[in-house]
Amino acid sequence: MAKIKMTTKDGAQTTINQETIEVFGAALRGDLLTAKSPGYEDARSIWNAMVDKRPGLIVRCAGAADVVRAVNFSRENNLLVAVQGMGHNIAGNAMCDGGIVISVSGLNSVRVDPRSQTVIAEPGVTLGAIDNETQQFGLATPVGINSTTGIAGLTLGGGFGWLSRKHGLTVDNLLAVDVVTADGELLRASADENSDLFWGIRGGGGNFGVVTSFEFKAHPLGPEVLSGLLIHPFSDVREVLNYYRKFAADAPEELTVWVVLRKAPPLPFLPEEVHGTEVVVLATVYAGDMADGEKALAPLRAFGNPIADVVGPHQFVDFQAGFDPLLTPGARNYWKSHDFLELSDGLLDTLVDFAGDLPSPHSEIFIAQMGGATNRIPADATAYRHRDTEFLMNVHGRWEDAADDDRCIAWCRKLFDATTPFATGGVYVNFMTEEEDARVPEAYGASYDRLVELKKKYDPTNLFRLNQNISPNGGR
Ligand SMILES: Cc1cc2nc3c(=O)[nH]c(=O)nc-3n(C[C@H](O)[C@H](O)[C@H](O)COP(=O)(O)OP(=O)(O)OC[C@H]3O[C@@H](n4cnc5c(N)ncnc54)[C@H](O)[C@@H]3O)c2cc1C
Repeated sequence: MAKIKMTTKDGAQTTINQETIEVFGAALRGDLLTAKSPGYEDARSIWNAMVDKRPGLIVRCAGAADVVRAVNFSRENNLLVAVQGMGHNIAGNAMCDGGIVISVSGLNSVRVDPRSQTVIAEPGVTLGAIDNETQQFGLATPVGINSTTGIAGLTLGGGFGWLSRKHGLTVDNLLAVDVVTADGELLRASADENSDLFWGIRGGGGNFGVVTSFEFKAHPLGPEVLSGLLIHPFSDVREVLNYYRKFAADAPEELTVWVVLRKAPPLPFLPEEVHGTEVVVLATVYAGDMADGEKALAPLRAFGNPIADVVGPHQFVDFQAGFDPLLTPGARNYWKSHDFLELSDGLLDTLVDFAGDLPSPHSEIFIAQMGGATNRIPADATAYRHRDTEFLMNVHGRWEDAADDDRCIAWCRKLFDATTPFATGGVYVNFMTEEEDARVPEAYGASYDRLVELKKKYDPTNLFRLNQNISPNGGR
């Protein structure tokens, strides 16, 4: 009888009978793909083109029942398991070599209840779909800044974006989840039910099970918000950053301004001679009254000699998708990230040096402004720990050609090392690459030991190990 070669969760090789696989596939409402199935190549491709993994099986779940079946099948056959939301994570853990992928990307319903201002989303939903549904009712929940990112991975790591200074992280707005744990049980976790699991899910990544439903609270917003870009010439970079630092310190929580140091894309509102040259981008959203926003942003808009000021009223859903063209799937990407309490002179000097030597046209350094509501939650209230972070840097290396891998990755690592002395040591798990396992304890700080205890309770054999892994052995 034909057998399929598979990888076990400990990395050993094994085989499964074709018949066993057929019985499993027939029990699913969704699809089961092997390397020979039509659609396999598409199904294994994810956002970061550097990830090129070939799973033995891909289960495209059609509902929570399929997730239970897939978890049970994986556990009973001792398989290496990857869980896929929308496949955006830089580390590429949504795929695996030789194991089984439990994909929830097909579970994509969103249901808004305008009366209770809540939204229930399945794990295959994009941020764009959530914004689209909530904005119809004048509501929004804080998510990230690229509309094609998946809600599942984003939420499980913490989740931040333009609304976070006003309304907190995505996990701070999470009310409940349904989750299939390693033993195949479907549990509800909320403040009142399985509250230990609910604590761990809010930042602990995919370590505790497969989430099949998220319930969030939403807030009145828009549909138009004051938002847009201020673009300054790189020759003024230090003055702009000095001013930004002062401005950000006094900014109201409604206002968020991120800094992006990169080469100018060919945007229609930029003069042609600027395209492809280094610029300083200030990207901003005011999550409140338009007139108050105009007042709050006036000093920043009056500063210096920007090449472009395209701040104005924009539909929130449109602004949320505004960066999508720069973040399309299929490019090679490598990230490094740090948290900061402040933008010291030494840090700014280092950023300016490296921004003057970008390794490719699409690489960028971005500094997200955190603070506000994200910092008001006690550090031990959720597994996401770093409630003192004021600025979060992502070094985003992005290029097309594999021949540039070493050079671009080296630039990211060098910048990361050069900025380490200014960083808190904390890190956002969703910005960590596959090779950064050793940083997981730092990412959870003083909550790490509690997470290990939770892992022992809900996933003692570490079935869910392809993530920023919290080992039940507490390995550091
Ligand atoms: C272009 C881009 C922009 C981004 N911008 C932001 C931003 O503004 N703010 C922000 O906070 N983050 C941002 N991120 C990071 C983003 O939050 C993570 O990449 C996140 O993991 C993506 O979720 P996903 O479901 O698409 O990813 P996937 O790669 O599918 O999933 C990531 C991991 O999450 C786990 N997982 C996924 N689904 C489930 C589930 N249903 N149950 C249990 N575990 C699951 C698995 O371990 C999986 O490996 C951005 C990422 C990209 C690529």
